[in-house]
This record gives sequence, structure tokens and C-alpha cells, in this order.
Amino acid sequence: MSAHAEPSRREKAPRRAETVLAHIGTSSDPGTGALTAPIYLSTAYAHPGLGASTGYDYTRTANPTRDVLQSALAQIEGGTAGFATSSGMAAAELVVSLAAPGSRIVAAEDIYGGTYRYFDELAKTGVYDVDFAIGEQGLCAALSKPADLVFIETPTNPMMVEIDIERIVDMGRRAGAIVAVDNTFYTPIFQRPLESGADVVLHSATKYLGGHNDVLAGAVIVSREDLAEKLAVRLNMTGATLGPFDSWLLMRGMKTLALRMERHQDNARKVAAALEESPLIDRVHYTGRGGMLSFVPNESVDMPKVLESVRLFTFAESLGGVESLITCPAVQTHADVPRERRMGYGLTDDLLRLSVGLEHWRDLVDDLLGALEVSIRRR
Ligand SMILES: *Cc1c(COP(=O)(O)O)cnc(C)c1O
Repeated sequence: MSAHAEPSRREKAPRRAETVLAHIGTSSDPGTGALTAPIYLSTAYAHPGLGASTGYDYTRTANPTRDVLQSALAQIEGGTAGFATSSGMAAAELVVSLAAPGSRIVAAEDIYGGTYRYFDELAKTGVYDVDFAIGEQGLCAALSKPADLVFIETPTNPMMVEIDIERIVDMGRRAGAIVAVDNTFYTPIFQRPLESGADVVLHSATKYLGGHNDVLAGAVIVSREDLAEKLAVRLNMTGATLGPFDSWLLMRGMKTLALRMERHQDNARKVAAALEESPLIDRVHYTGRGGMLSFVPNESVDMPKVLESVRLFTFAESLGGVESLITCPAVQTHADVPRERRMGYGLTDDLLRLSVGLEHWRDLVDDLLGALEVSIRRR
């Protein structure tokens, strides 16, 4: 065995997500040995000569700080390439660009309200032939006809229904479609869609990946080289890339992703159990995985009062941060989904969604139960 065989094999050993995350950017700058990735704000890069490049020319095309982030994104999702975008919606737009105008898109209906609004607009303006489908059955039925792209979110938002990715991949393949999965809720810590055969994973990195409610960002990760090339060309063309400073903030947040997800999940399990036991609750929607859940208070509770009475949970529209949030999807995140459509899949006016944070679970349970208690209607 040659003296060099061992190190090269060790370098190639695949690393687990926790390890990749803890080391994002470590040794990315051999010149200085900086432990964390430097923020390269420079938008332009000097050319060594005519037709020569350091690998960096202009920041829209490539930026050293964003590259460190993109490489980590690809690794944690088990993809060949990752792209950091200016928001989760920019990530969705990038994914949709993989389908030629006029082609058929099958989209799950029970998805993030903004993504629904985008697909609805594409359908209304005739850019694509968009078919919305409810649940796994609905998706499979829609995929019995040829399609170019199938776009799902699992678990669904805010009903928390898991969709079998492998089954959708199987049906999608037969329909001739690229399979895209929004993995914002579970993150690669709990779900790796590319390993289940999906072609594309996307994230609103604003949520769990960033984790601190202080950076708006999106991510797209692909498993196929041909898709990676298309996305690189498209992103350079449209320019919805993530800036160097935001790339750095996102990396900083991601370093603790694995740890945070475990605690989000532990806390959510305890909150879900406490709600299940409360006589003031009609239904709890929780899959047992991750930090998101939704619930419906019963008739004796004045729902708007609950939103005013919580002290630890903040009544705000996002999710995935260290602090717990509570939202009313019907009037906030899903306001653009027509009432009869959302009622069709169970998103009623009084359903509340929780993003369970990293506080002590007892304090969270006390806050929720206390808010429910003071919101009982007086007769
Ligand atoms: C928030 C969110 C989006 C949109 O992302 P932005 O970063 O707000 O543009 C897309 N999908 C899901 C599941 C989300 O929660």
C-alpha cells in the first residue's frame, strides 16, 4: 500500500450531516487558515489574463462565500449540486424553470400558501398547465397522465399529512416528470428526498436551515448533473442569488441545525401530547416528527383570544426559529387559498399552527394551556 493511499481514501469518506454542518467553512481559506468562512463582499474579480479566471469573475455567477454554503447544502441533502437563492420563493421559481413553458405541472394543493399563489398565477396566465391535487391519492391520479414536473411538500402545510416520496417518485417517473420536494419542514435531519429518488429538493432556508428568524434565503439541491447545469445557467441569468453576507448568516445558523431539530422535535412531542390531553382541543395534527404541528380548539374557546393571550408564543407568520410562533393559516400564510379549496382539505378558519421553538417545554405547555383557559367563552 502506498503512503498516500490512506489519506485520499479518508478524504473521500462520506460525512454525516451533523459533521458537515459543524464544519461548514472550516479550512475554506487555506491562505489564512481562518476557521470560519470569510465574507467575500467583492462583486468583481481580477482576471489573471485574457481568457483566464481564478474561478471567480462576477458575484452573480459565483461568489466564494456562497460557494462554501452551496457545497454544504449539496452534502447535507446528498445531492451533486446546491444553489442558494434570495428567498424560498426564488427557489420555487428556479425549480419551476426546469419545466418548459406550456408543459404540465402537477402540484400538491396543501402546500405553503405563497407557493400555491405562484402556481395559481402560472395557471391563470396560461404559462403552464397546472393541475392541483389533494393528498397522495390525488397526486397519483393526476400522475396517471404525462407530466413534466411534480411539486410536493411533505409533511403538508398546515395539515401535517406525510406523503410517501418513493410512491410519488415512482408515479412521477412513469409520467415522465421531474420530482421536486419542498423539504422546509423536516430538513435533511429528518428526511432526505433525494435518497428516496426525488430529482430536486428545495427549502425556504429562512425557516429551519437559518433557524434564527434573521435571514431570508432559499435553497435548491439536485441529484442530476444535467439539472445542475440548467439551474446554474438560469440562476446566473435571473440573478436571484443569495448575497455574501446572507450566505454567511445562513451558514452560521446551519452549524447547529442537527442539534436544534432534535430539540424542536422533543418539545413538539411534549406540546402535542399536552394538547391531545386538553379538553379544550378538538383535533391535533402532528406526525411525531419535527417541530411543526397544528390544532383546532373546540367551540368553547374564543380562538382570536388565544392569539392575544399567549405570552411566550409570538403571534407571527414564520416558522423554524429558536423562538416559538403561533399563526392562524386561514388569515395569514394561506390567505390566498380560496376558502372552499382549503376547507376541502381540512384547513378550517379556526385551525392554529405552531412552530415549536427551543424554550423549556414546560413553559411552552403552561403558556398554551393558560391562553386556552382564559379564552373560554363566557355565556
Ligand atoms: C416560507 C416557506 C416558503 C417560502 O419561502 P420564503 O423564504 O418566505 O420566500 C416556501 N415553502 C415553505 C414550506 C415555507 O414555509
